[in-house]
Amino acid sequence: MLLILAVRILSPSSINRIISAEFPNPVMHPDLHAAVQQFMVHGPCDTRFHLSCRSQSSDSSCSRNFPKSLNASTRILHDGFPEYRRRGRFSGHDGDRIVTDEWVVPHNPYLLARYRCHMNIEVAGHVRSCKYIYKSVDAIMFLLQLDIDNDMMTSDELAGTA
Ligand SMILES: [Zn+2]
Repeated sequence: MLLILAVRILSPSSINRIISAEFPNPVMHPDLHAAVQQFMVHGPCDTRFHLSCRSQSSDSSCSRNFPKSLNASTRILHDGFPEYRRRGRFSGHDGDRIVTDEWVVPHNPYLLARYRCHMNIEVAGHVRSCKYIYKSVDAIMFLLQLDIDNDMMTSDELAGTA
């Protein structure tokens, strides 16, 4: 699902109000903590190489780049994607293993508590990240642009089979 907000999320503090990549305090928010532990922990895939994020990679690294680094604060990187705050204040369990914020998938705590299912929620506020979302639309628009700009181009050339 793609949500487009009426208000743009432009700062790390506004990202922190909407998205979390951390375990909440288990004493203050036991239900939310249980939901993060049950639905929003990636893997851990560093010992489960059969998971698709590792098994489809040529070097067995995680295609989703987990585990993530712990960060004291959220930063917006040059490519427009945020590096979420992961302070490592609280942890959860995956069986006998203790898992930290390094393995938490970004989510919206309100939506997670309400719907109690896996839902990766991320900010895509930069033009480049929006192009990632609309890449198939971009491809169609690119083909249409070629058709308009070069009426000598055949349909085979547009499809890349010429
Ligand atoms: Zn992984």
